[in-house]
Amino acid sequence: MKPFAYAKAVDAATAITLRSQFATARFLGGGTNLVDLVRQGIERPDALVDVTGLPNDRIDELADGGLSVGAAVRNTAVAKHRLVRGRYPALAQAIVSGASGQIRNMATVGGNLMQRTRCDYFYDMAANCNKRHPGSGCDAIDGFNRMHAILGTSERCIAAHPSDMCVALTALDATIHVEGTRGERSIPFDAFYHLPGDTPHIETVLQPDELITSVQIPPLGFANNSIYRKVRDRSSYAFALVSVAAAIAITDGTITAVRLALGGVAAKPWRAHVAERALLGNAATPETFRRAAEAELASARAASHNGFKIELATRTITGVLRELTEPGDAR
Ligand code: SF4
Repeated sequence: MKPFAYAKAVDAATAITLRSQFATARFLGGGTNLVDLVRQGIERPDALVDVTGLPNDRIDELADGGLSVGAAVRNTAVAKHRLVRGRYPALAQAIVSGASGQIRNMATVGGNLMQRTRCDYFYDMAANCNKRHPGSGCDAIDGFNRMHAILGTSERCIAAHPSDMCVALTALDATIHVEGTRGERSIPFDAFYHLPGDTPHIETVLQPDELITSVQIPPLGFANNSIYRKVRDRSSYAFALVSVAAAIAITDGTITAVRLALGGVAAKPWRAHVAERALLGNAATPETFRRAAEAELASARAASHNGFKIELATRTITGVLRELTEPGDAR
C-alpha cells in the first residue's frame, strides 16, 4: 500500500484547503469503501482528509417543508429519523436495505454518494478495467456480468452503481450542495453522475477541490406514499440486481404525479423519465404500469449474463406501482 498523509479537518474551508495541498488527496468519511480501495491499491491517494469531524452532521427541517441532510450524517441516523420515515419512507427503506447494520452505522451520506462500483473486475488488479486503468479494456463485457448494467452502458464499461440510498434520493428530486475553492453550488441528483461513455473513470461532475456538504430533499407531499423495493440474491448484505424507488399520487383514478428511479441497472441511479411520462395523466391500472415499465426498458442492452434484468426491472416497477395504488392487493 502506498504511504499517505492523514489530516483531520474541523470545517469545510479547512478540509478544502488541506485537500488542495496534495496532488491526489481524497476526503475520508466513514471509510467503508475508500479504505478497502486504498488497501487494495485501487485508489492511491497521497493524503486522506478526514471530514467526519465537520459540523455538517445534522438533519434540519427547511422552511419549505423539505429536509437538509448534512454530508457527515451517518446512514443509520437518516434511516431512523422521524421526518425521513414519515415524509420519505422510500429513503428510509432504501438505506435499511443497504449493507449491514455495522456498515450503515459508519457510512456517511457524502461517502455513500461517492462510493465506487462493486464490479469484480474493477477490484481485481489482474483484470483489464477501463475505469481503473483507462484504455486497458473491460474484462466484464466478455466475462461474468450477471450484476452489471443494462441501461446507459458503453463499449468501454458496463458497471452498475451500487448505492440504494442514492436511488431513493434521485426519485425524490434531491440536490447535492458542494463547496470548493470557487464557492458553493447545488447539483440535481440526476445530473451529478456521468454515464460511462468513452471515459468511465470520470464518474461525477464533482471537481477535485469540491466537498459535498449536504443533500437537500424538497417537500414532496405525495412522497409519504413511496416505496423502495430491492431485488437481490439473498435477503441481506447483497447489492441490488434491480431496485425501484417510487412515489405516486392518484386523483379519481388518474396519475397526477409520479417519481420513479431504478438501481442496479446503470452506472448511475437511473431516473425513469420515460416511464414517468408514460404514467402521468393516465389511468392508474396494472396495464398502464406495465406499458410504462416496458417503455423505460426499451433502450436496455443486455450483456451475456444479465438479460434477465430487463424483465425483472419491468416486473418490479409494475409491482411497486401496484403496491402503492392497491395497498394489500398487489402481486
Ligand atoms: Fe472496469 Fe467497468 Fe469493465 Fe467493470 S465494467 S471491468 S468497472 S470497465
